[in-house]
Amino acid sequence: MDQEEITIVAGPCAVESEEQIRDMGYKISLIKDLAQPYNIGLKLRGGAWKPRTLYYKNGEKIFEGTREEGLTWLAQTAKKYTLPLVTEVMSEMDLRHLIRYLNPDRDYLQIGARTSQAFALLYAVGGTRFNVLLKNPQHGIDIRETIGSLQRFENNGIKVFCTRGQRIIEPRGIQSQTYQEYMKKLLSSTHQHPHARNLNNIEAIAQLKKHPYILNNNILLCHDPSHIWGGKTDLMRRKIGEYAIKAVREFGYDWITVEVNDKSAEAICDADQALLTTTNGVDWSKTNARKEPQIKPITLVDITMNLMEFQAKKIGIEEEEVKKSKKMIETIRWDMRSS
Ligand code: PEP
Ligand code: MN
Repeated sequence: MDQEEITIVAGPCAVESEEQIRDMGYKISLIKDLAQPYNIGLKLRGGAWKPRTLYYKNGEKIFEGTREEGLTWLAQTAKKYTLPLVTEVMSEMDLRHLIRYLNPDRDYLQIGARTSQAFALLYAVGGTRFNVLLKNPQHGIDIRETIGSLQRFENNGIKVFCTRGQRIIEPRGIQSQTYQEYMKKLLSSTHQHPHARNLNNIEAIAQLKKHPYILNNNILLCHDPSHIWGGKTDLMRRKIGEYAIKAVREFGYDWITVEVNDKSAEAICDADQALLTTTNGVDWSKTNARKEPQIKPITLVDITMNLMEFQAKKIGIEEEEVKKSKKMIETIRWDMRSS
């Protein structure tokens, strides 16, 4: 069982090149070492397999991952920097590769929004010992469906359920008064924004936490602000950072997962919503913002530092110690290279 109280999963949307994942892994491992005394654990994310909605983009077949090759880069990075991995399994056919390169005592198989009710996949993953991170389906959270999917993982290690936003369903033709009222309430919540990529379902934690299955089976709850807000503007990227912090501090999530990519200008997948590890020494031309943004971004270092302060109060770490840790974490630079 993992010892940490808070888990931060960070890394690019997709594993796109060996250099990309190695550099992100290096910087994330430095942050991990500094956060560890605060009972905060960091894991490296990145999909070698990427389920994409579109099939063609700009007349070309869309990028769907670097697959087996990407997996070898992930595995090398995890080994080199002692990082646990969270990576997507798109179909039961990929499992034979993932099993070869990942460590079931350390790593997590992520099942995404598009496949979280693909039962053949759920059974296949349930047949392994791997830890699992399951996202809510695109249509939203239905507690019966959630439990139904999670129950396929009876024999797996640690199980995490992740809220990642949902589609806005027009309640046309749906007569149920309760449903109409639920949608009305959801849409008028202060946690929504018209420019966001998805409807924010962060508040579902209240229902999830109460459910006996979640309670009795130690299901951990994770929040993914990246796929909720998207990154159409500097404001949406700032919201990702704000809500990563809020998810833990105000909503009581155990885990957060955020997309981080220091060279997001080059990224093929989910480029706009990637956060930076740090702005210290950053070359803005290499980022999705292209130039220094007007709205101050929140980086992975900012999120981690904020949660370190939160933890310090809880576990009684002296202010002097926190100051030292902050100084150390601020030495991490955007242009740092691993050896
Ligand atoms: C992802 O984590 O990059 C991803 C594809 O997520 P989701 O399945 O929630 O869209
Ligand atoms: Mn993504």
